[in-house]
Amino acid sequence: MNSKSVLIHCCCAHCAAYTLKYWQEQGYETTAFWYNPNIHPYMEHQNRLEAMKVLAANLNFHLVITEGYDFIEYFRRVAGHETGRCSLCFDMRLAKATETAIELGIANFTSTLLISHQQKHDTLKEICESLAQHTGVNFLYADLRKRYSDSRHITKPMDLYRQQYCGCVYSEWERYTNKTIE
Ligand code: SF4
Repeated sequence: MNSKSVLIHCCCAHCAAYTLKYWQEQGYETTAFWYNPNIHPYMEHQNRLEAMKVLAANLNFHLVITEGYDFIEYFRRVAGHETGRCSLCFDMRLAKATETAIELGIANFTSTLLISHQQKHDTLKEICESLAQHTGVNFLYADLRKRYSDSRHITKPMDLYRQQYCGCVYSEWERYTNKTIE
């Protein structure tokens, strides 16, 4: 197993662009990974995935896409836990990343969510650390939040689809009503 290989869970093209570049610059062999059943509705998911494919083609990196769209499982997990749903959402997506890293023989994992100011950064980090402990796949951490503008600088000329809300229907409702689910 190559100790300098990393599977990078990608939430969207705009967060992925600089994150991929950063880990490549640190000397890692990078594989991008798509698994986001938290993105609703389906066509929104497809639009974001399409943008990710275009980015991969433009920047010439390998993108692994999970088959299927596990939105029913996503809703089963968060139903009744809507206020704490982000932890469950992170866990579902990043657990799949560790499973995939093991299948592909990749030593490390990380997520492009770590570049976003919109995400619960510390919760995300804790979940990744816990997954690393349980699975043996090493978690690579870097706080890239100050580099999000660099990521947008890379994607802007590509004119890729850009989302207006985090992903789930709850976040869409919060975005357009300016309310918070309690
Ligand atoms: S707001 Fe975003 S991170 Fe939180 S549950 Fe919804 S899609 Fe997942």
